[in-house]
Amino acid sequence: MRYISTRGNTETVSAAEAIVRGLSGDGGLYVPETIPQVSEETLQKWSGLSYAELAGEILPLYLPEYDPAFLKKAAKEVYETAFEGGAGYTARVRDGVYSLELWHGPTCAFKDYALQLMPRLLAEAKRMLGHAETTRILVATSGDTGKAALDGYKDLPGIEICVFYPQDGTSQIQRLQMATQEGANVRVCAVEGNFDDAQTGVKKVFSDEALRAKMEEKNIRFSSANSINWGRLVPQIVYYFYAAFRVKEDMHLPADAKVDFCVPTGNFGDILAGYYAKKMGLPVGKLVCASNQNNVLTQFLTTGEYDARRTFYKTASPSMDILISSNLERLLFHVSGSAAQTKEWMKELSENGIYTVGEEILSRIREDFDCGWTDEETCRATILSCYSKERYLCDTHTAVAMKVAEEKKTALPMIVLSTASPYKFPRVVLEALGRTVPESDFDAIADLEELTKMPAPKSLTQLKRKEVRFTQVITADGIAEAACG
Ligand SMILES: *Cc1c(COP(=O)(O)O)cnc(C)c1O
Repeated sequence: MRYISTRGNTETVSAAEAIVRGLSGDGGLYVPETIPQVSEETLQKWSGLSYAELAGEILPLYLPEYDPAFLKKAAKEVYETAFEGGAGYTARVRDGVYSLELWHGPTCAFKDYALQLMPRLLAEAKRMLGHAETTRILVATSGDTGKAALDGYKDLPGIEICVFYPQDGTSQIQRLQMATQEGANVRVCAVEGNFDDAQTGVKKVFSDEALRAKMEEKNIRFSSANSINWGRLVPQIVYYFYAAFRVKEDMHLPADAKVDFCVPTGNFGDILAGYYAKKMGLPVGKLVCASNQNNVLTQFLTTGEYDARRTFYKTASPSMDILISSNLERLLFHVSGSAAQTKEWMKELSENGIYTVGEEILSRIREDFDCGWTDEETCRATILSCYSKERYLCDTHTAVAMKVAEEKKTALPMIVLSTASPYKFPRVVLEALGRTVPESDFDAIADLEELTKMPAPKSLTQLKRKEVRFTQVITADGIAEAACG
């Protein structure tokens, strides 16, 4: 299988090249030329596999030039060791509603599923392609991606990683997770300003030709770890299959029974992995796209109009505070079947901040997707009601999706993707439960543990005793200098 750009560059590349390059030269995203098809017999066989075994079957379909034995081994090493209690853990919340808890990895957010594996894919791709340069990964993060990338890339030979986060834009826990990061090849900087300032600064570095040439003289090449890279997307396809199998087992449903998924969405990467699973042949009813108050995707999936010219809200679910959902471009390409059309929409978006896809495309998208959004007050109320009715504790991102899932529930089972541990945002969660909120996240974690009797992940409580290694605060203008240092 080869990969092509969503914007019409006719050159095809291998999966390894797509992962090393990240973006296509024409600004488009890499997508598989065809989506692998899975028969009913295969599905039946897959339903009995462990998570690591299942990953070992699915990854080779999309990464054909990697040695399948390498992929199986990598999947085993990552998914059998890095996830407490086993990868793909799916909890029953109430009759017909399940929570796919994706936060039992080392950094307590779903991004671990991709970022624990992707560094191995990148290192192997460089080896296969004969790239000997040092790869320097630059990441602008609102919290979760930065830590997950640091943990995934730490101490990998030939790779360095440099993370920029907004000084006052993360929870205390998220900041400490990054500032205490171990590893000889990692660097972390706080940036004065908000996430957009950090992101703009990093994007400037990527597009600065002179800077790139200067770094190439030192045999260093910049790369990114965000979800536009195919290597971030492909590992996420696995858990849609795995969770659907577990839920059907639990409900004694036949193999061909459909399930719905509800996904708290920002950059449209996680939910797009579900689209690939569905197109491969997993029986899925709807993929429900859940947004917070930054509900640009709800508007798009309802009207066909993508309008980014709107107020940006800072919410309690910061990883979904996004107005440009980059991975939507991949869906538009698959649904329209036209790179020229996709390129035109993306041009309109960058020039005017708005584009419209028309009735026909919208109705095709709506065959697979539904949508909804949750405001700040309702998000908190949902954390409280889930806990008081079902003793189920959600973080803010999961709560946004829980509420939308409630509204969209049909006769089909509903699987909500739970994307972060509630202990990553302990003060908001405690406040939602109607408790007095202490100043420190660690005190809030202790209060939350005492209240719920659910132990917090050790990787979070142990932060209190870890040495803070990174205290540097820079301005957004200083990002280029820091990235090249
Ligand atoms: C990144 C993130 C999301 C959004 O995922 P996308 O792939 O960007 O749509 C949702 N919840 C949490 C906790 C996240 O870290």
